[in-house]
Amino acid sequence: EVRVRFAPSPTGFLHLGGLRTALYNFLFARQHGGRFILRLEDTDRSRLVPGAALDIEHTLQWAGITPDESDSRGGVYGPYVQSQRLSLYSAAAVSLIESGHAYYCFCTNHRLELLKTEALRRGQTPRYDNRCRHLHADQVQENLAQGKPHAVRFRLHMKAEPFEDLVFGWTGHAVGEVEGDPVILKNDGFPTYHLANVVDDAHMHVSHVLRGAEWLTSTCKHLQLYRALHMTPPTYAHLPLLLNPDGSKLSKRQGDIYISHFRQQGALPEALLDLITNCGSGFHSNRVGRNLKELISEFDISKIVTHSAVLDLKKLPEFNRVHLQQRIEDERQCRLLVDEVKNLLTLTYTDQIQEEKVLDHNYILRVLHMRKRHISSVRDLLSPMYSYLWLRPSVSRQQLEEMSSESHDIISRIMQVIKGCNGEYTPEFLTGELKLIAKKLRKTKYSSVMKLLRLALTGQQQGPSVGEIMVSLGEEEVCCRLQKSLE
Ligand code: GLU
Repeated sequence: EVRVRFAPSPTGFLHLGGLRTALYNFLFARQHGGRFILRLEDTDRSRLVPGAALDIEHTLQWAGITPDESDSRGGVYGPYVQSQRLSLYSAAAVSLIESGHAYYCFCTNHRLELLKTEALRRGQTPRYDNRCRHLHADQVQENLAQGKPHAVRFRLHMKAEPFEDLVFGWTGHAVGEVEGDPVILKNDGFPTYHLANVVDDAHMHVSHVLRGAEWLTSTCKHLQLYRALHMTPPTYAHLPLLLNPDGSKLSKRQGDIYISHFRQQGALPEALLDLITNCGSGFHSNRVGRNLKELISEFDISKIVTHSAVLDLKKLPEFNRVHLQQRIEDERQCRLLVDEVKNLLTLTYTDQIQEEKVLDHNYILRVLHMRKRHISSVRDLLSPMYSYLWLRPSVSRQQLEEMSSESHDIISRIMQVIKGCNGEYTPEFLTGELKLIAKKLRKTKYSSVMKLLRLALTGQQQGPSVGEIMVSLGEEEVCCRLQKSLE
């Protein structure tokens, strides 16, 4: 059975990198009829960020990447929060000590700091010198009896053990040569990432681990831990790094990679998934506009490549536009959009909206349909360029007369057309009629008629086509605005 997990540390809110890892695991699980687990790796107590765990869970739900097993959903291999599983890790640490694969380390922080500064002074990369590996058993017993603070370290092999990664192929890093023995259990009784990650993946029967390539070297340690614990490791697939267009590493320090940031700006989850899947690999094509179901069927783990993926945030508005249009065309989803616009209008224009009909469901629905090819977020409708949809503009007769001395005549004729249009109130019909009117005029060109009308109806010089403006506003409102402009 395929069992995969997304195992974020709640040390920050969910960002694009995390969303990518979660998505690929989810797609892989769904594609194989497997299970997708959400596990919180909260053992580094000093780096916990309040609210991060909730943010991660809610954001995944918002994106439709829902776990089958998690803290809130439950599951047979829970609890799904590492801080609630401490006894499992200490038991593993004890068994590793007993089998000689791990040892107590009594080095003080002061000593470790000195090692570090000394190495840096010599221009070397700091590493633990494995001193306590060689402590005599009697000495260890004495230290323990004296209650000396201690950690547990894992004895790394010097030899590199290559392994076959589904994406990177055969890889191996001589971790033992490069790094000192890693701490697996800290003095406070909490495990470090390596031990907890391995114990949990084994205990939760995780079959495949899909995670960022930044963990590749850790995997070499994890495989040694599995062997020492007599447990079978999962199959690994490391995902290529995500980069900014300037080639820099996508970092959590840049505020604009958090999903909450995009969400606040009106991004749709499907558009963010497009952003991730469009730049990355793992699919037969890079086409955009896919929903989760399509992503599941088009995902192919063998298509993931090793070279880094460049995230181009500039494409997001276009992706959002595509998905917004799809939502507008779906009756059920569009109803939610109408409500959203209604709320935004109430928040933005509070007391300025005098016309109740502006908040009318069908009116907003019509506006959404008219503008669906042009807006990338419903919030766009709140921008000044669309204020005419919600508020009557104030345009003086004088302003119109400055545009054309025939303005009064033109506007009266148009009102007559509208009154006699017998239900045929479409952009095409209106444009045709406006052309006819223009032909009969002596001094005003067709383009000026349009400009005049746009000004009278919206108070603006630019915007959607006049036919569309007229249909969006509706016959009654158009007549009312035109009438007022004559006064
Ligand atoms: N807790 C690790 C993280 O924050 C998990 C890495 C892994 O998937 O093993 O990314």
